[in-house]
Order: sequence, then structure tokens, then C-alpha cells
Amino acid sequence: MQQTYPFETLPLPYEIGALEPYISGETLEVHHGRLYNAYVDNLNKLLSDRPELQNLTLEELLRRSVRMPKSVGVPLGRYAGGTYNHVMYFYGMAPESSYRPPQGELARAIDAFFGSFDGFVREFTEAARAVFGSGYTWLAAGRRGLTILNLPNQENPLMTGLYPLMCIDLWEHAYFLDYKNDRAGYIDNWWKLVNWEYAEGKYEEYASARRRS
Ligand code: MN
Repeated sequence: MQQTYPFETLPLPYEIGALEPYISGETLEVHHGRLYNAYVDNLNKLLSDRPELQNLTLEELLRRSVRMPKSVGVPLGRYAGGTYNHVMYFYGMAPESSYRPPQGELARAIDAFFGSFDGFVREFTEAARAVFGSGYTWLAAGRRGLTILNLPNQENPLMTGLYPLMCIDLWEHAYFLDYKNDRAGYIDNWWKLVNWEYAEGKYEEYASARRRS
């Protein structure tokens, strides 16, 4: 994500009702139009009087936030994370009609680290079901390969030295209107919407950054 300050709310990459019946237009309207948008606004407000941070990308802001004094680092991590994580979540989904399983390098890495695609789905689903309170489950890449991790609130794998490839938002606002308290049902249906092309692109970004370093 190459954007810098002032950050813009990116449009949904599909029509508002395109993820129905699994995620309703009503849910996306609140989630994208209000909640994500509020993170972008708050991030811009926080950066407005900090010119030394204004030329940094979201990736750089997130990596840096954990090394800053808490008075700035904590809100910066929340707002930059809330911005970055929601872009990954919304762009990491696509209408069911365009679904296909992962391909190429990412598919090979998933097989290598989780035994099979089905094994990966089982492990990720188990992790997602175990999230307590608000947070996300992530697939991330790092020096030791692929890993599944749960992070609370708006934390991001970049804050732990890993590179995010895909995520599921497990805050109640992501599913409560459609599923009430049936989070497991939301997780099961989310698999039908995963945009593997996007995750493959993130993996390629990670691999090429690694080749450069
Ligand atoms: Mn959310």
C-alpha cells in the first residue's frame, strides 16, 4: 500500500451487495462507510501536526509505531492498523461467483507449511474460532515461512516483524447484523469469499521485498 498522508478511504472493490448472502450490504455500509472511514479520519488527524511522519506508508507507520513512545505509538498503531487491516479485509474478499483456490507460489507454500490446503483451512478456522474479544486472524509470511496468528484489536503482523497476506476481521461489527452471535457460521461462509488473487499478490510483494534486502 503505497499511499501516504493524507490517507483516503479506498472504495470497496465490488458492489455493496456483492458478498450477499454471506455478508450483507447493510453490514458493509456500516463497516466500510463508517468504521473503516473513521480510522482513516483519525489517522489523518493524528498525522496532521506530525510532519515527520507524513511521508511514511502504512507499512512504515505500523513498523515504527511499536518503537515510539506509547503516547503516540499506541494511537498511531490503532489508527494505522485500523486503516491497513480494513483494506486487507475488504480487498481480500470477492464475490462467491469469482472464487477460486490459491495458485502458484502461495499454493505451494501453503501445502509445504500446512500439509495441504484443507489442513490450512482447518488450522486457520480453529485459530479464528479461538479469538477472544475483538481481533483478527492472519496468514502472514516471515523468515521461517508461513504462519497463522491471532492478534487483538487493530494490531497487525507488521508490528511483530511478519508480513500480512490475508485476514479475517472478527470484531462483532463484521458479522453481528448477519449472524448475531454465530461467529463460527460467519467464519465458515467467509471462506467462500476469500480473494486468493489478492493474497497471492501480497505474497509476491513479500517475496520481492525479501529478494531486494
Ligand atoms: Mn472491522
